[in-house]
Amino acid sequence: MELTSRPFTLELRHRFTLASGSRTTTPVVLVELRHDGHTGYGEASLPPYLGESQASVAAFLSNIDFTKYPDPFRLETILADIDALAPGNHAAKAALDIALHDLVGKLVGRPWYDLWGFDPAKTPYTTFTIGMDTPEIIRQKVAEAAEFKMLKIKLGGANDRQLIEIIREVTDQPICVDANQGWTDKHFALDFTHWLAERDTLFVEQPMPKTMIDDMAWLTERSPLPTIADEAVQRLPDVVKAVGVYHGINIKLMKCTGMREAHKMVTLARALGLKILLGCMTETSCAISAAAHLSPMADWADLDGALLIRNDLFDGANIIDGKITLTDAPGIGASLKRDQGSGIRMRDEG
Ligand code: MG
Repeated sequence: MELTSRPFTLELRHRFTLASGSRTTTPVVLVELRHDGHTGYGEASLPPYLGESQASVAAFLSNIDFTKYPDPFRLETILADIDALAPGNHAAKAALDIALHDLVGKLVGRPWYDLWGFDPAKTPYTTFTIGMDTPEIIRQKVAEAAEFKMLKIKLGGANDRQLIEIIREVTDQPICVDANQGWTDKHFALDFTHWLAERDTLFVEQPMPKTMIDDMAWLTERSPLPTIADEAVQRLPDVVKAVGVYHGINIKLMKCTGMREAHKMVTLARALGLKILLGCMTETSCAISAAAHLSPMADWADLDGALLIRNDLFDGANIIDGKITLTDAPGIGASLKRDQGSGIRMRDEG
């Protein structure tokens, strides 16, 4: 197998604001894995607050010699070797995992939902994220999101209730709330959760800091809404720690090193009675399509990452009337757009 990669910068449609800061771009690294006339595509998305960068991905990839793996079907061995190279580097590992899955699916000629035995008709609706902003911009963003069956609202700022009230003035779409660890008092969190439940909210993601385990368990026991772990659950061994502390977990390929571990997390979460939210970073339709193959097993999906960018390089899984729609193309089902206008083609830039 032969690996190539290149950095790319995603341009966001709207300035993206979290409690931790705001930005207008997201760096990614795109990878290609070639074998026997087929090309597998992969992507590492690198929001700056998570600590990986295009340089750290390039350094990680430079340690891997794919020529020593003549058989791409040895996924379990290859990905375990890659994981053992260095701790962290979750997005870099995810890029390789996605490319390898894409390649293997193409060699077999089947999409991954088929290989996993999932029914593509059972994909969920996805949320559409409305970032923190001025009331005027929020009203505009909600209007643009009319086709979506549910909205995701990032909280944890000073004007959280006002933000929800602005949204409720303009739409009755159900909302999902992500507090990004913003609430540090369990009584405040429970009070807020009741207030949100009265305003058609589906779940509350990471309401309290991930280290406040006892307080979080107290909240989950009393919460009128499902509580979902995001920052608290990164990889497979974290799933069991969510039992009794949260009602469910948010699985993201960029946190858990890719499709193979995400599939194991889905299986374990189901066995433990945990709800599953499938999430993403801002990503092209490459990584989004990869995640979409797991979505028939999710209770909710938050796979709007490619919709939030202006310069998606790939066609793949679509969102149609708010519902994730898988194609029957083999592998992850993502293909490079033939004409990007600005001349962006993976091979051209080297
Ligand atoms: Mg989150």
